[in-house]
Amino acid sequence: MSGRLLNNPNVKNPMTTARDYFVTHLECGLTGTCYEAGKIHGLSEAGRPLLVRYDLHALRAGVSRDTFAARPASLWKWRELLPLADFSNRLELGEEATPILPLTRTAARLSVRSLLVKDEGRLPTGSFKARGLVMALSMAKELGITKIAMPTNGNAGAAAAAYAAAAGIKAVIFAPEETPEINIREIAAYGARVYRVNGQIDDCGKLVAAGKETQGWFDLSTLKEPYRIEGKKTMGLELVEQLGWRVPDVIFYPTGGGTGLIGMWKAFDELEAIGLIGPERPRMVAVQAEGCAPMVRAFQQGERHAVRWDDPATIASGIRVPQAVGDFLILDAVRKSNGFAIAVSDAAIQDAVDAVARDDGTLLCPEGGATLAAYEKALRAGLVGPGEEALLFNCATGIKYPLTDHSRRLDRYEPIDWAMI
Ligand SMILES: *Cc1c(COP(=O)(O)O)cnc(C)c1O
Repeated sequence: MSGRLLNNPNVKNPMTTARDYFVTHLECGLTGTCYEAGKIHGLSEAGRPLLVRYDLHALRAGVSRDTFAARPASLWKWRELLPLADFSNRLELGEEATPILPLTRTAARLSVRSLLVKDEGRLPTGSFKARGLVMALSMAKELGITKIAMPTNGNAGAAAAAYAAAAGIKAVIFAPEETPEINIREIAAYGARVYRVNGQIDDCGKLVAAGKETQGWFDLSTLKEPYRIEGKKTMGLELVEQLGWRVPDVIFYPTGGGTGLIGMWKAFDELEAIGLIGPERPRMVAVQAEGCAPMVRAFQQGERHAVRWDDPATIASGIRVPQAVGDFLILDAVRKSNGFAIAVSDAAIQDAVDAVARDDGTLLCPEGGATLAAYEKALRAGLVGPGEEALLFNCATGIKYPLTDHSRRLDRYEPIDWAMI
């Protein structure tokens, strides 16, 4: 299934197009088989994710650190490393660079040199799913796609629905019935058709595949189209520039489908190939919840592919993904980087969220809390040292999730005991 050629006037011949288009082809992440750019693609013939390849040699001659530093701090500043043939097809809802915040008081509590968090909750729709979906929907627009369908645990569906609205593309979204209410309502608010399904995210994915024939929609599932990785890759590009063109010692990433981990690993390779960083790499740590840890199990068992996790359960819904089509890409990156995979309990996740909000004024989402819980666990186990620079990912705004009620009531008509306040 290598896709069909579209006579879409928006897709220019790569040989004649503008100077910011460097895509050469797409490649199966497992077998390396090549596929033509400028066409609609799903998975490779081997049923695995496709990776976009660029003419990095030409790019090396054409760009420098200054090229990127001179542009506004948005995801679109990396356009030479992004897949749009015609840059005017980009969708924009304000994809600004997200800050890297020092968790000063948390670092002091843990007696470590420094602890950083990249706060992705500030992106459109409140999660880093915006990075992947802005790219997937921009490419869908460029390739002439008019209808998409997708399974989601919440955030991806919201981002897809928002960018589909901006593109004038119809969106149909399937979510497990335990998906947070706010996500379901947000998806509907953007005009998408949203279904609650009595199953897990992979069951929802099967519905997307099953409806393809009769509904004529494009399957936008995680890693089943090539461009979400390219969008998520910008996290790696951005953090390197923000740290002064260097990588941190270790990155803790809450891993569901693994798009971001795979994308960042690809970003570092591309940055090295174009001469903007050297061969140094951060250790990549895949963080999962104890109630859904297929990557951790595969990592520990030395497997390259992960078996489906039965009965997944965790409050961190973004990483409640029992099976990932890019499992080998996640595990390869973790191993090559000399990193590890680690699981944490829901109780530890909740404690981490509460502690950072109280100590540092940053409200992490549960998945972000999982990265801190994993960091603390790894620190105790000696897997990371107190002198290493660790970067955590907070992937969504904490205010999209149910919060513990710590409030008290006050009756303004009764005498007030000010000593108790
Ligand atoms: C989707 C999601 C994740 C997992 O990201 P992947 O790159 O798909 O592994 C983590 N946290 C949140 C909040 C998410 O929405």
